[in-house]
Amino acid sequence: MSGKAVESPDFRKDSAGIYRCIPFEALGWIEHGFSTRDASECLASHPLITLRQVHSADVWNAQGLTDRCRPGDALISNELAKRIGVRTADCVPILIADAGLRSVAAVHAGWRGTAAKIALRTVERLRAEFGANPADLRVAIGPCIRECCYEVGNDVARQFHEFFPEWPSGIETLIPKRIDLAESNRRILLSAGVSADHIYDSGLCTFCQALDFFSYRREPQDPGRLVAFIARQK
Ligand SMILES: [Zn+2]
Repeated sequence: MSGKAVESPDFRKDSAGIYRCIPFEALGWIEHGFSTRDASECLASHPLITLRQVHSADVWNAQGLTDRCRPGDALISNELAKRIGVRTADCVPILIADAGLRSVAAVHAGWRGTAAKIALRTVERLRAEFGANPADLRVAIGPCIRECCYEVGNDVARQFHEFFPEWPSGIETLIPKRIDLAESNRRILLSAGVSADHIYDSGLCTFCQALDFFSYRREPQDPGRLVAFIARQK
């Protein structure tokens, strides 16, 4: 339950300071990115549809929505050139692309959303709404607070025991208690039928990497927000 965050070779930072998932770029039909502290490049070129994020497990089809018109924490879409996204500062941004049917999703998963399995809810919604086969889904997990930096109380730790059956039963006695939100979401996605080979975790830690990222825990007075976005382009 420790160890420093390790950056993944599946991600690169481009000249605009935006992290891109290389296997997503290889799909050839999506535009996507995870911003660093300066998100202006992500926001400049096209409108972005986001939700009023409330740490729920509510998933919406972006069709007909305007930016921040609705409370919720995950968006799905299969419309061409519709950019959907989430704003985060420590919570986990997750982008999903269906390599078969070309639908996309953007998920905001803090500890509450993760514990409520918003990632699973999003996969279920992609299946119900667009007919997605989980085996065709590709998932990119962006910069978030990692196990190295995310100490939590007993009340939160207890809610994650189901994702980590290898934890000793007396988790309450462990000090400090650290939670791996990205790994929790990875395991939830595996349980939803996504292939381990298709989950790309950036390994980036918002708390450790202060030059690149905002962190609510590090700068609680005025954390900015990182932007993660995805759009079907073809
Ligand atoms: Zn860290």
